[in-house]
Amino acid sequence: MGKSQILGNMFKLLIVIASCLAPLYILISHPNLKHEGRTFHFDFKIGSTISRPNHITLDDVYIAVKTSSSFHQTRLPMILQTWFPLANDQIWFFTDADDLVLQMITDRHMINTYCPPTHFRRDLSCKMGVEINTFMTTNKTWFCHFDDDNYVNIPNLIEMLKGYDPEADWYLGRNSYSTRYNATIIKRMETVNFWFATGGAGICISRPLGVKMLPYISGVKFLHTSDSILEPDDVTVGFIIEHLLNVSMTRIAEFHSHEEKLNLVKRDTIKEQVSFGYQNKNIIEIEGR
Ligand code: UDP
Ligand code: MN
Repeated sequence: MGKSQILGNMFKLLIVIASCLAPLYILISHPNLKHEGRTFHFDFKIGSTISRPNHITLDDVYIAVKTSSSFHQTRLPMILQTWFPLANDQIWFFTDADDLVLQMITDRHMINTYCPPTHFRRDLSCKMGVEINTFMTTNKTWFCHFDDDNYVNIPNLIEMLKGYDPEADWYLGRNSYSTRYNATIIKRMETVNFWFATGGAGICISRPLGVKMLPYISGVKFLHTSDSILEPDDVTVGFIIEHLLNVSMTRIAEFHSHEEKLNLVKRDTIKEQVSFGYQNKNIIEIEGR
């Protein structure tokens, strides 16, 4: 066997070894890949990568949870034991008092809005104003609001957001009324109507839309806009987006507030839902592990 023949055979051997090791390398370097028979495929649909050019991740989302001092010991422990650990860097609690213990447990994710601790319209609007304005100071792509009596399926929330181009204007949420909401612009005594997404089901707003909202929300302007129609925070968001900015709400069927009868949600679809709101006996009972 000549020298060049030996080299040639070694080269062929190298190629055989490389082609054997390549699938192993691909598997290790791409955790999303699964080996199925002789072919490899991605966990997510290939088609979805075309219709969803923006690969949003959890870190692109700013999640604001509205709470109040009276719920620090009652509602927050439930969130801290369930969905908070899945997004502890992205979730921020907007409250109305300092709480050193919660500040430690959440790694300083409690924000004192200094809004009064009541359920009055102005005080709820005060908090929502602080929530959106604080989001606008970050570089996050999406703003999502939830109440502290919500359960949120974080992975499903992210999957849902992947379906919407974050460079466009999006107002995502769930209406609780089956018709448009009538509000009156007090100064002109003009009645206007629009859809609004219930705060207690979840509201997500894309950054470009947040920028367009600024003239009506920055600083204390959210409160002033709320005052102009004498409506609470979530109605005010609908008024700004649908009426003043002419952007339609997109209905997210997987959001649920306690305004809905939760036992109407089909049991075999519970895993597909994004949010639930609970109240008194309006709950969903599921077995633990
Ligand atoms: N909330 C608040 N201050 C209050 C009472 C309630 O910020 O004095 C918040 C509460 O933490 C929740 C939301 O407002 O996130 C809605 O309150 P709740 O669920 O008690 O009443 P609902 O409006 O849903 O009937
Ligand atoms: Mn509630």
